[in-house]
Amino acid sequence: MEQINPDVLISEDDISLRINALAKAINEDFSGEELVVICVLKGAFMFCSDLIKKIELPVRLEFIQLSSYGDGMTSTGNVKIEMDVSTTLKDKNVLIVEDIVDTGLTITTLLKMLEIRDPKQVKLASLLFKPSRNKHKVPIDYLGFEIEDKFVIGYGLDYAGRYRELPYIGVLNAGN
Ligand code: 5GP
Repeated sequence: MEQINPDVLISEDDISLRINALAKAINEDFSGEELVVICVLKGAFMFCSDLIKKIELPVRLEFIQLSSYGDGMTSTGNVKIEMDVSTTLKDKNVLIVEDIVDTGLTITTLLKMLEIRDPKQVKLASLLFKPSRNKHKVPIDYLGFEIEDKFVIGYGLDYAGRYRELPYIGVLNAGN
């Protein structure tokens, strides 16, 4: 497989510093409470892993997988649950952990799907947000970084199934 060198958009150190700040806010907001953390697969796995290491509350970790994007760079516009959480959300404090809010369609649909399960409250942590592409207003309670309209990879995010393992957020340059 050919070697690629994406351009670094957000470094490993900057991600780590930002996650510390987000975790601090979460620890304060949910002080004395338990949290069901829902990691949205696959893109949020690395962010979620690093974030929960800094959360000093009793956490139950759950995973959910949705389909909205295919292998390319454009949305199919159709969001489905491919794999659901394995616990009840009734009366629970829920923190959804997402990789990126782009048009907002995926997360808006997920929020509606979870709301009918009667949780105590639902908050959203997203590593990235592309304001220029946003169509569906999404309340991001804990946001990592706002980015411009570029297709990003790394730190969990893929392009056609690749680059998730990179420890930083990058953009594919013309040479790649
Ligand atoms: P939305 O429904 O908000 O338009 O899209 C959200 C999903 O699209 C994200 O969870 C992610 O899977 C994918 N996505 C949107 N923008 C990007 C991007 O720049 N890079 C990658 N790898 N995925 C993206």
